[in-house]
Amino acid sequence: MKEAIYLAGDFSGIQRYVLAVKSAGKAQAKRLRARSFLLELFEHAALWTIKEDLQIADNDVLVRGGGGFLIRIPLDTDTDRLEEIRSGLQRKLWDESGGEVQLSLGWAKTPLAARTCLEVEKRRTGAFRLRNGDSWNLENWSQPSLGKPCEVCRQAPGQQSVLDENEKVLHCRNCLQARKLGEKLTRYEWMRPGGDSVQALGVGFKHVNDQEPGAFRTGRWIPRQADSDKPLTFQEIAERARGDHRLAVLKADVDDMGCRVREVVREDTSYNRLRDFSYGLHEFFGHIIQESLEASWPLIYTLYAGGDDLLLVGPWDVVLDFAGSLAREFKAGPAKMYSPLTLSAGIALTPYRVPIRHAVERAEKLLELAKKRPGKNRCATLGADWEWKQHESVTGDGKRIANWIETGVVSRSLLYRLLCLVEGNDNLRSAHWTYQIERNGPQHHNGFRRWANNALNNLEHDEQRMSELAASLGYALLATRHRKGKRDD
Ligand SMILES: [Zn+2]
Repeated sequence: MKEAIYLAGDFSGIQRYVLAVKSAGKAQAKRLRARSFLLELFEHAALWTIKEDLQIADNDVLVRGGGGFLIRIPLDTDTDRLEEIRSGLQRKLWDESGGEVQLSLGWAKTPLAARTCLEVEKRRTGAFRLRNGDSWNLENWSQPSLGKPCEVCRQAPGQQSVLDENEKVLHCRNCLQARKLGEKLTRYEWMRPGGDSVQALGVGFKHVNDQEPGAFRTGRWIPRQADSDKPLTFQEIAERARGDHRLAVLKADVDDMGCRVREVVREDTSYNRLRDFSYGLHEFFGHIIQESLEASWPLIYTLYAGGDDLLLVGPWDVVLDFAGSLAREFKAGPAKMYSPLTLSAGIALTPYRVPIRHAVERAEKLLELAKKRPGKNRCATLGADWEWKQHESVTGDGKRIANWIETGVVSRSLLYRLLCLVEGNDNLRSAHWTYQIERNGPQHHNGFRRWANNALNNLEHDEQRMSELAASLGYALLATRHRKGKRDD
């Protein structure tokens, strides 16, 4: 193996940047879209700058997507040049993202050592701004706070008021730029560096009609109105949910990614396998899943997709069904190719009026919870978490119970009482369950009685099944609640 330098890059602050937008009004989805697109352009622009500057072949880009990259560069590369590229990119990114997104670059003679340098570098992001050569640059230590802040991000001084969905909103320079991009985004499908359709980090991008060499797809799947082709707002998406008009935010990623990468690197020091692994995952999350959304899940909105993770929003019941399908596609795709490989997800439900970032935070916490369980490979939502092989049974029971309520087989109040029993701390739980079923349940409905008996068998000794039962009951109650976006999450 020829010796080389490995250059690792990583963007931080991505999620905060994408989600830090004003949520009031109907423009939330539009603003999120613009920011997530801009972020993608930052990634492409940084990679393009490095590749052009150092004359790197595509083959030497070993990892890309998901806010990071790893590039193999010639051993004789001048490290002063690397320092210059780094500070140039960092300065531009600081300007264009209002200091919210940072790029760290680290390099060393192996990928893992480069990763370690990157982590050290990450702890001092922003340092380039405070230093001016060898002396401290005092001018940059405080941000001037002049006038009213931008009403979209509240991070920078406002510059111009523009009409957004019938309301006047004060924008800062960067939010104006994101807005312009967002408008173009609905028209562009493919782009490639070299041109002047849009600019990011000093790199111009050109709109192209087809997948030509070097082009990348900018389109993320966006739910649209059937008749007018207009993108749906979060409210309109929530209104398509069954029962309660709630959105669900799904956050999913690969389990033990760091360990898997280290294993792959150990197995093959030419790093071809690492490249296949990283491209395979990026292809799955960034493209294959996008195609599935377009074909089968048109109501789901992509906040972020790429690398080894996924952040989506949609009607709560649709997202729960999609999660099961995602797990199956993952099992048949990347997990089969790079076994052993598993995936976990956290799904948080939210009324559409609340800023989506709060639900994203909860989805992240749920994902963490799923990953704390032995073996991971789980979904956490509706107050419980379960292995993927149980997913269909939990949601399927929820749907069946909801159907029983809707067709008058059982009352909603009985199921509510059963849920309280399951969740409560009752020593006579089984006895009370039987009493409720006998007294208030239908006497001659085989399906219901089978379900109720099955549940009874698990009531005393199987904690896991009990929490799944509570989730199914919760599902049914939500699916049959006909009130709009109530704040009682
Ligand atoms: Zn702003």
